[in-house]
Amino acid sequence: MPEHPPESTQQKLSDRLRYYEDIGIGRFYRDRGPVSTQQAAALAAAPEVTPVVEEPSLPKREPKSALPATVSVSTHKLEPLPVPAGPSLFEAINKIENETLPLIRENLGECTRCKLHKTRKKIVFGDGNPNAQLVFVGEGPGADEDAQGLPFVGRAGKLLTQMIEAMGLQRKDVYICNVVKCRPPENRQPEKDEVEECSPFLLRQIDTIAPKVIVCLGSTAAQTILQTNRGISHFRGEWLEFRGRKLMATYHPAYLLRNPAAKSEVWKDLQKVMAELGLAVKRSKAT
Ligand code: SF4
Repeated sequence: MPEHPPESTQQKLSDRLRYYEDIGIGRFYRDRGPVSTQQAAALAAAPEVTPVVEEPSLPKREPKSALPATVSVSTHKLEPLPVPAGPSLFEAINKIENETLPLIRENLGECTRCKLHKTRKKIVFGDGNPNAQLVFVGEGPGADEDAQGLPFVGRAGKLLTQMIEAMGLQRKDVYICNVVKCRPPENRQPEKDEVEECSPFLLRQIDTIAPKVIVCLGSTAAQTILQTNRGISHFRGEWLEFRGRKLMATYHPAYLLRNPAAKSEVWKDLQKVMAELGLAVKRSKAT
């Protein structure tokens, strides 16, 4: 008799299948229902119904001459966005040589630079691989993140984890952080003065990690980094440039929880990111 996988594994498989369905990989629909031991084993081992990622971890940082032939993506656009008049928030911030993430965290200290410090429980600095090729930037911590001091650990975080795993990566392969490092009360949007105080630390994190690709999750992150007041729908899914790095804005996982239909759009964006990182996908959608 084959051994039953633990309940947590079955739940994880079920969650993963649900996520693939949500992003448009539809062949799972006919198999939905409680996942039996045999189904779980078969699904786990069935590359023909799974969006197979050939490279389980990020490749080395050699420059790539061509995109993987197995990935179909639209032509990249690298168009600078029009920015508001006035000095850029990041204009005067230059890369600091020999900087490290622990040093930036040390500089941040028990920060009281903006009013968000009054209501936070924990500073959420960021988490993940300090040499990541892919950095996700969100808006700010929510209640779960505030309690744990880690980014994207609530419901939206669980969805982000599924998105990362669907790309063939693990959370430990990427770096995840936010525009502001303390939770805005009632999960309101961070205010201008808060963003201005906190975002230089984000910039230092990005410069230090030096990722190949930055993915902004949601309009606040995108508008802050790109210094634009244009809505995310104007540039979502397009390749943009930020301080010499490729940047893509896509919807925030919290938005996807409210609007599951938008998951397929995000998946298309993530496929472009995968192509850029050399993460080959044999098949992105069920036929
Ligand atoms: S949000 Fe940023 S600037 Fe404001 S108190 Fe927290 S760490 Fe400091």
